[in-house]
Amino acid sequence: MTARRIDGKAAAAALRERVAAGVAAFRAKAGRAPGLATVLVGEDPASAVYIRSKNRATAEAGMESFHHQLPDTISEAELLDLVGRLNADPAVDGILVQLPLPGHIDASRVIETIEPSKDVDGFHAMNAGRLATGLPAMVPCTPLGCLQMLKDELGSLSGANAVVIGRSNIVGKPMAQLLLGESATVTIAHSRTRDLPDVVRRADVVVAAVGRPEMVRGDWIKPGAIVIDVGINRVPTDDGKGRLVGDVAFDEAAEVAAAITPVPGGVGPMTIAMLMRNTLVAAHRRAGLNDPE
Ligand code: NDP
Repeated sequence: MTARRIDGKAAAAALRERVAAGVAAFRAKAGRAPGLATVLVGEDPASAVYIRSKNRATAEAGMESFHHQLPDTISEAELLDLVGRLNADPAVDGILVQLPLPGHIDASRVIETIEPSKDVDGFHAMNAGRLATGLPAMVPCTPLGCLQMLKDELGSLSGANAVVIGRSNIVGKPMAQLLLGESATVTIAHSRTRDLPDVVRRADVVVAAVGRPEMVRGDWIKPGAIVIDVGINRVPTDDGKGRLVGDVAFDEAAEVAAAITPVPGGVGPMTIAMLMRNTLVAAHRRAGLNDPE
């Protein structure tokens, strides 16, 4: 391996420390702690793990955590009613409804019901539009974490050729907007892209957010590129436990790239740290204070 391994855990720990200091300063100014409300519908084990980590991180940062566990039989109207109550609750600065939602609930209707200033996931169309037009927005946590790691590696992204593989509203599109905001030259690739390996070979920066285990091979990577692997894929193992791999064939890509994020331990921890930061930012904006450091 020749690439530097980008340590997402260490970067996340440093960010969480900064957020905890920001929370203490906010408490002193506002006389209350920032609050994050999480909503989990049903018992999906992966979602339950994510929500537990988020609630733990909230408490560790010194913020208030309000968790709402709902049965998967809940109606859309009841869920929208809860979101309405959280919108109106002055102790709640951030609202996170864990996705995916059961099939009988329209996720986009739920997202569009969240008050945009409390939309710490940054999925509301108002926030997507504000990001695209360069206005202050709540920005989705995963791409925000990827951008932070890229800036830590490269300093400036100005003029860099960046290829984002994936065009979801959650990762790919906001990632591309953030890179454009940093003056990178951005290509967004997806399932209909022709000659994807050739497209990726031109990239100084690759962000893979596809959901296909180890799809991006080592010989797709330009020597010296920075590779950010967003993918989280469980693949079977002989012992039946399975293991997590990214969208990039790590060992191969690490022979060619200058730096690469591992899976696990790369983008995942930064995503949760950014959720903490987004909650702190939302609290500041709602209190009429300048954004924290
Ligand atoms: P989506 O399924 O919403 O989007 C996947 C994207 O990949 C789509 O745009 C799709 O193209 C594209 N794609 C699929 N197959 C190919 C292919 N063969 N070649 C090129 N592009 C392809 O996924 P998400 O964006 O929500 O998530 C992507 C990955 O990131 C998943 O593994 C997910 O688990 C992980 N993730 C990790 C997070 C973290 O914290 N680390 C947070 C969020 C997600 P098209 O639009 O044409 O269908």
